[in-house]
Amino acid sequence: MDAFSPQTLAARFLFPVNGSVIERGAITMQGGKITSLDRKTTNADAQDLGNVAILPGLINAHTHLEFSSLAAPLGAPGMPLPEWIEHVVCWRRALTNESATPVPPDHAVRQGLCESLRYGITALGEICTTDWATTAFPESPASCTLFREQIGLSPERCQDSLSSARQWIAEFPTRWPPQSQRPTTGTRHAGLSPHAPYTVAIDLLESLCDLARKSNNPVAMHLAESPEELELLRTGGGDFAAMLDRLGAWDPGTTRPGRSPYDYLLRLVNTPRLLVIHGNYLNQRELDLLAQHRDHTSIIYCPRTHAFFQHTSYPWDAVLTRGIPLALGTDSRASNPDLNLLAEMRFLLGRLSSPSPQQVLKMGTSHGARALGRHHDMGILQPGMLANLAVVRLPDRTAKDPHELLFDPESKIIRSYVHGSLVYAEENI
Ligand SMILES: [Zn+2]
Repeated sequence: MDAFSPQTLAARFLFPVNGSVIERGAITMQGGKITSLDRKTTNADAQDLGNVAILPGLINAHTHLEFSSLAAPLGAPGMPLPEWIEHVVCWRRALTNESATPVPPDHAVRQGLCESLRYGITALGEICTTDWATTAFPESPASCTLFREQIGLSPERCQDSLSSARQWIAEFPTRWPPQSQRPTTGTRHAGLSPHAPYTVAIDLLESLCDLARKSNNPVAMHLAESPEELELLRTGGGDFAAMLDRLGAWDPGTTRPGRSPYDYLLRLVNTPRLLVIHGNYLNQRELDLLAQHRDHTSIIYCPRTHAFFQHTSYPWDAVLTRGIPLALGTDSRASNPDLNLLAEMRFLLGRLSSPSPQQVLKMGTSHGARALGRHHDMGILQPGMLANLAVVRLPDRTAKDPHELLFDPESKIIRSYVHGSLVYAEENI
């Protein structure tokens, strides 16, 4: 079956996300898009998938695929963030050490992209530390927004970082020709990622935001992630300064005490689209500022990574009540056992206090689409949207609320579709 012939899939439940769940429904796709959602089908050619739920393809709004070959997270649960980052830096240095077997940069990314499709993820927000100039970013049907990571505290590093950001934006269209020329590969979009307040001088941040504004590109930044980050901003010292000093990357002249994430947000909200990564410790004033800009800003919550670092409870309620889109990310396999976004949702629902199942489903679909600026063609099941689907096998039982079946521990992604084409199937078809 090619994407250009009409095809109809029947399922026990369709979850449109922006409307009520449809029981024993059918979805029809043609030309890569959804053409109809029906309460029942009389179409004799419909393929009945049985006891499954069909959802929009899941959206992982924050990941670092370069860590996808890790079998287990680095460091230990509850480790302070500065100490964990030291582990990550040592791991990276060991990879490039002459005595170690060099791992090609695209190997882990390819693994991560395959794993994502297995988990029904059809779009990602990826932080890149490689320019992918000589090696192409691996082919995959998943749509990827590639946020080029930027780091710079000293004036020299800031200058280099800004040049590399300009080059990334300028050369991006030549590295990724239009999708019509590569029908089996998902769309690729350029973004910038000033890494975090402890690695990016505020002047560099201002220049990067300026570049994003002029080139109309999205920006993703790790912000308000840990108490140590807040301490560094407040006092100009603490565990982050000590860690960076040990790594030879600290420049005391670049951090002025008396700052907070608010100072960074003031610059960031003036970009065309902002993804605040984590935001674990955003205060009321900072959330209010984001709420004023919620048409183009989102916060990305990474539930299992948040739990790995044993942070204080996540302010999801304060985010959602302000109408700020809260999307989900797996972060990387350096702080999470896998890239399974459905597991991320289940984990969140299993917490003592959590959003409703309907809200959690939105976080992994329509809010993710909004975060990546793809809400016009992704994140919900509706005629005219891209036919990106995740098919979930459900447990053999009944439930009052179908969301209960969807998030049951036995439920499993068994198929993924991108633009109407089957790109992953657990069973042989
Ligand atoms: Zn991250």
